[in-house]
Amino acid sequence: MHKFISTTLVDRIDALLPQTQCTQCGYAGCRPYAEAMAAGEASINQCPPGGTAGIQQLAALLGVEFKPFAEGVVQKPLAVACIDESLCIGCTLCLQACPVDAIAGASKQMHTVIADECTGCELCVAPCPVDCISMKPLNRLYSDQAHRDAARQRYQFHVLRLSRDKREKAEKLARQPSVSPDTQALIQAAMQRAKAQASAVQPANTGQLTLEQQAQIAKIDARRAGAGVTAKVDTDKE
Ligand code: SF4
Ligand code: SF4
Ligand code: SF4
Repeated sequence: MHKFISTTLVDRIDALLPQTQCTQCGYAGCRPYAEAMAAGEASINQCPPGGTAGIQQLAALLGVEFKPFAEGVVQKPLAVACIDESLCIGCTLCLQACPVDAIAGASKQMHTVIADECTGCELCVAPCPVDCISMKPLNRLYSDQAHRDAARQRYQFHVLRLSRDKREKAEKLARQPSVSPDTQALIQAAMQRAKAQASAVQPANTGQLTLEQQAQIAKIDARRAGAGVTAKVDTDKE
Protein backbone atom coordinates (compact mmCIF):
# COMPACT_ATOMS: atom_id res chain seq x y z
CA MET A 1 0.00 0.00 0.00
CA HIS A 2 1.36 3.46 -0.90
CA LYS A 3 1.62 6.06 1.81
CA PHE A 4 0.09 9.36 0.65
CA ILE A 5 2.10 12.37 1.73
CA SER A 6 0.54 15.77 1.14
CA THR A 7 2.86 18.72 0.62
CA THR A 8 1.95 22.29 -0.08
CA LEU A 9 3.78 24.54 -2.54
CA VAL A 10 5.39 26.30 0.43
CA ASP A 11 6.67 22.92 1.69
CA ARG A 12 8.16 22.10 -1.70
CA ILE A 13 9.86 25.49 -2.04
CA ASP A 14 11.09 25.32 1.55
CA ALA A 15 12.55 21.88 0.84
CA LEU A 16 14.88 23.46 -1.73
CA LEU A 17 16.15 26.24 0.53
CA PRO A 18 19.44 25.79 2.46
CA GLN A 19 17.85 26.15 5.93
CA THR A 20 20.59 28.33 7.40
CA GLN A 21 17.96 30.88 8.56
CA CYS A 22 20.61 33.51 7.79
CA THR A 23 18.05 36.18 6.66
CA GLN A 24 20.20 37.29 3.69
CA CYS A 25 17.11 36.92 1.47
CA GLY A 26 15.49 39.79 3.37
CA TYR A 27 13.05 37.52 5.19
CA ALA A 28 13.09 36.25 8.79
CA GLY A 29 14.20 32.78 7.67
CA CYS A 30 13.84 30.17 4.95
CA ARG A 31 10.16 29.41 5.55
CA PRO A 32 9.00 33.06 5.39
CA TYR A 33 10.95 33.44 2.12
CA ALA A 34 9.29 30.27 0.78
CA GLU A 35 5.88 31.66 1.74
CA ALA A 36 6.63 34.95 -0.04
CA MET A 37 7.71 33.09 -3.21
CA ALA A 38 4.58 30.92 -3.13
CA ALA A 39 2.49 34.09 -2.85
CA GLY A 40 4.32 35.58 -5.85
CA GLU A 41 5.75 38.34 -3.67
CA ALA A 42 9.46 37.41 -3.82
CA SER A 43 11.84 36.64 -6.61
CA ILE A 44 13.71 33.33 -6.94
CA ASN A 45 17.17 34.96 -6.80
CA GLN A 46 17.34 36.22 -3.24
CA CYS A 47 19.14 33.37 -1.46
CA PRO A 48 22.96 33.62 -1.75
CA PRO A 49 23.65 30.42 0.27
CA GLY A 50 21.57 28.42 -2.23
CA GLY A 51 23.83 29.57 -5.08
CA THR A 52 23.02 29.45 -8.76
CA ALA A 53 21.99 25.80 -8.44
CA GLY A 54 19.34 26.83 -5.93
CA ILE A 55 17.90 29.42 -8.34
CA GLN A 56 17.77 26.77 -11.08
CA GLN A 57 15.87 24.38 -8.81
CA LEU A 58 13.40 27.08 -7.78
CA ALA A 59 12.86 28.12 -11.42
CA ALA A 60 12.11 24.51 -12.37
CA LEU A 61 9.71 24.01 -9.47
CA LEU A 62 7.82 27.25 -10.05
CA GLY A 63 7.90 27.04 -13.86
CA VAL A 64 9.51 30.44 -14.23
CA GLU A 65 12.61 31.61 -16.07
CA PHE A 66 16.02 31.43 -14.42
CA LYS A 67 17.02 34.81 -13.00
CA PRO A 68 20.66 35.41 -11.97
CA PHE A 69 21.65 37.04 -8.72
CA ALA A 70 21.41 40.81 -8.72
CA GLU A 71 24.67 42.66 -9.27
CA GLY A 72 26.63 42.97 -6.05
CA VAL A 73 25.28 39.80 -4.41
CA VAL A 74 28.27 37.96 -2.97
CA GLN A 75 28.14 34.16 -3.05
CA LYS A 76 30.52 32.95 -0.38
CA PRO A 77 31.68 29.34 -0.17
CA LEU A 78 30.14 27.22 2.57
CA ALA A 79 31.93 27.81 5.85
CA VAL A 80 31.78 26.56 9.40
CA ALA A 81 32.12 28.70 12.53
CA CYS A 82 35.20 28.18 14.64
CA ILE A 83 35.72 29.52 18.19
CA ASP A 84 39.16 30.42 19.48
CA GLU A 85 38.58 28.76 22.84
CA SER A 86 41.58 30.46 24.45
CA LEU A 87 39.84 33.84 24.04
CA CYS A 88 36.24 32.81 24.81
CA ILE A 89 34.89 34.44 27.99
CA GLY A 90 31.78 32.22 28.19
CA CYS A 91 29.25 35.03 27.76
CA THR A 92 26.77 32.69 25.90
CA LEU A 93 25.82 35.38 23.34
CA CYS A 94 26.81 33.16 20.40
CA LEU A 95 24.86 30.26 21.84
CA GLN A 96 21.75 32.42 22.05
CA ALA A 97 22.21 33.63 18.46
CA CYS A 98 22.58 30.19 16.86
CA PRO A 99 19.32 29.13 15.17
CA VAL A 100 20.23 25.44 15.03
CA ASP A 101 21.75 24.93 18.51
CA ALA A 102 25.14 24.11 17.01
CA ILE A 103 27.13 25.71 19.85
CA ALA A 104 27.83 23.93 23.11
CA GLY A 105 28.78 25.72 26.32
CA ALA A 106 27.44 27.27 29.51
CA SER A 107 27.64 30.61 31.27
CA LYS A 108 31.26 31.54 32.17
CA GLN A 109 32.58 28.43 30.41
CA MET A 110 34.38 28.03 27.13
CA HIS A 111 32.09 27.49 24.12
CA THR A 112 32.64 25.30 21.11
CA VAL A 113 30.96 24.77 17.72
CA ILE A 114 29.57 21.36 16.78
CA ALA A 115 30.97 21.54 13.25
CA ASP A 116 28.68 18.90 11.70
CA GLU A 117 25.62 20.84 12.81
CA CYS A 118 26.81 24.32 11.84
CA THR A 119 25.09 25.67 8.71
CA GLY A 120 27.54 28.55 8.26
CA CYS A 121 24.88 31.24 8.76
CA GLU A 122 27.37 33.58 10.53
CA LEU A 123 24.71 34.78 12.98
CA CYS A 124 27.01 34.02 15.93
CA VAL A 125 29.92 36.14 14.67
CA ALA A 126 28.64 39.69 15.30
CA PRO A 127 27.40 39.18 18.89
CA CYS A 128 30.78 37.86 20.14
CA PRO A 129 32.23 40.65 22.31
CA VAL A 130 35.83 39.43 22.01
CA ASP A 131 35.87 38.65 18.27
CA CYS A 132 36.90 35.04 18.84
CA ILE A 133 34.58 33.45 16.21
CA SER A 134 35.80 33.10 12.65
CA MET A 135 34.37 31.32 9.61
CA LYS A 136 36.47 28.56 8.05
CA PRO A 137 35.67 27.65 4.42
CA LEU A 138 34.67 24.03 3.75
CA ASN A 139 35.07 21.91 0.66
CA ARG A 140 31.57 20.54 0.66
CA LEU A 141 28.18 21.77 -0.50
CA TYR A 142 25.54 21.66 2.20
CA SER A 143 22.78 22.25 -0.24
CA ASP A 144 21.93 18.59 -0.64
CA GLN A 145 18.63 17.27 0.61
CA ALA A 146 20.03 15.43 3.65
CA HIS A 147 21.82 18.52 5.03
CA ARG A 148 18.82 20.74 4.34
CA ASP A 149 16.41 18.35 6.07
CA ALA A 150 18.70 17.92 9.08
CA ALA A 151 19.16 21.69 9.43
CA ARG A 152 15.40 22.27 9.17
CA GLN A 153 14.76 19.72 11.91
CA ARG A 154 17.32 21.31 14.21
CA TYR A 155 15.82 24.75 13.61
CA GLN A 156 12.30 23.49 14.33
CA PHE A 157 13.57 21.89 17.55
CA HIS A 158 15.31 25.16 18.47
CA VAL A 159 12.05 27.13 18.00
CA LEU A 160 10.12 24.58 20.10
CA ARG A 161 12.78 24.68 22.82
CA LEU A 162 12.63 28.49 23.02
CA SER A 163 8.86 28.47 23.29
CA ARG A 164 8.96 25.71 25.95
CA ASP A 165 11.57 27.67 27.99
CA LYS A 166 9.44 30.82 27.76
CA ARG A 167 6.32 28.96 28.89
CA GLU A 168 8.13 27.31 31.81
CA LYS A 169 9.54 30.65 32.93
CA ALA A 170 6.05 32.23 32.80
CA GLU A 171 4.60 29.31 34.79
CA LYS A 172 7.37 29.63 37.38
CA LEU A 173 6.69 33.34 37.76
CA ALA A 174 2.96 32.70 38.09
CA ARG A 175 3.61 30.26 40.95
CA GLN A 176 5.52 32.87 42.94
CA PRO A 177 3.51 34.68 45.65
CA SER A 178 2.22 38.02 44.44
CA VAL A 179 3.92 41.15 45.74
CA SER A 180 1.92 44.08 47.09
CA PRO A 181 2.30 47.54 45.44
CA ASP A 182 4.02 48.82 48.63
CA THR A 183 6.61 46.05 48.49
CA GLN A 184 7.07 46.63 44.75
CA ALA A 185 7.77 50.33 45.44
CA LEU A 186 10.32 49.41 48.15
CA ILE A 187 12.09 46.97 45.79
CA GLN A 188 12.13 49.59 43.02
CA ALA A 189 13.61 52.21 45.36
CA ALA A 190 16.27 49.76 46.61
CA MET A 191 17.20 48.86 43.02
CA GLN A 192 17.56 52.52 42.08
CA ARG A 193 19.78 53.18 45.14
CA ALA A 194 21.97 50.19 44.23
CA LYS A 195 22.22 51.40 40.63
CA ALA A 196 23.22 54.90 41.74
CA GLN A 197 25.86 53.50 44.12
CA ALA A 198 27.24 51.18 41.43
CA SER A 199 27.60 53.99 38.89
CA ALA A 200 29.42 56.11 41.50
CA VAL A 201 32.02 53.39 42.13
CA GLN A 202 35.13 53.50 39.95
CA PRO A 203 36.96 50.23 39.24
CA ALA A 204 40.08 50.10 41.42
CA ASN A 205 42.41 48.73 38.77
CA THR A 206 41.81 51.14 35.87
CA GLY A 207 45.11 52.88 36.63
CA GLN A 208 46.89 49.61 35.90
CA LEU A 209 45.39 49.21 32.40
CA THR A 210 47.60 49.96 29.45
CA LEU A 211 46.38 52.27 26.70
CA GLU A 212 46.11 49.23 24.46
CA GLN A 213 43.87 47.42 26.97
CA GLN A 214 41.67 50.50 27.39
CA ALA A 215 41.33 50.81 23.60
CA GLN A 216 40.37 47.13 23.37
CA ILE A 217 37.68 47.54 26.04
CA ALA A 218 36.31 50.62 24.23
CA LYS A 219 36.20 48.62 20.98
CA ILE A 220 34.31 45.77 22.63
CA ASP A 221 31.81 48.19 24.21
CA ALA A 222 31.25 49.81 20.79
CA ARG A 223 30.69 46.39 19.17
CA ARG A 224 28.23 45.38 21.86
CA ALA A 225 26.33 48.65 21.47
CA GLY A 226 26.34 48.24 17.67
CA ALA A 227 24.94 44.71 17.96
CA GLY A 228 22.26 45.96 20.36
CA VAL A 229 23.68 43.67 23.02
CA THR A 230 23.76 44.35 26.71
CA ALA A 231 25.58 42.16 29.19
CA LYS A 232 23.37 39.22 30.07
CA VAL A 233 22.34 39.03 33.66
CA ASP A 234 21.85 35.36 34.32
CA THR A 235 18.38 35.53 35.76
CA ASP A 236 17.44 32.05 34.59
CA LYS A 237 19.48 30.40 37.29
CA GLU A 238 17.74 29.15 40.41
S1 SF4 B 1 19.37 30.29 3.58
FE1 SF4 B 1 18.50 31.47 1.89
S2 SF4 B 1 16.29 31.34 2.21
FE2 SF4 B 1 17.25 30.68 4.11
S3 SF4 B 1 17.29 32.55 5.34
FE3 SF4 B 1 19.28 32.40 4.26
S4 SF4 B 1 18.99 33.59 2.38
FE4 SF4 B 1 16.96 33.19 3.23
S1 SF4 C 1 27.52 28.03 14.94
FE1 SF4 C 1 27.30 30.12 14.16
S2 SF4 C 1 27.54 29.92 11.95
FE2 SF4 C 1 27.17 27.87 12.76
S3 SF4 C 1 24.94 27.60 12.60
FE3 SF4 C 1 25.32 28.39 14.65
S4 SF4 C 1 25.14 30.62 14.46
FE4 SF4 C 1 25.33 29.78 12.38
S1 SF4 D 1 30.12 35.01 22.08
FE1 SF4 D 1 32.34 34.72 21.97
S2 SF4 D 1 33.05 35.02 24.07
FE2 SF4 D 1 30.85 34.72 24.19
S3 SF4 D 1 30.61 32.51 24.56
FE3 SF4 D 1 30.51 32.81 22.36
S4 SF4 D 1 32.60 32.52 21.61
FE4 SF4 D 1 32.72 32.81 23.84
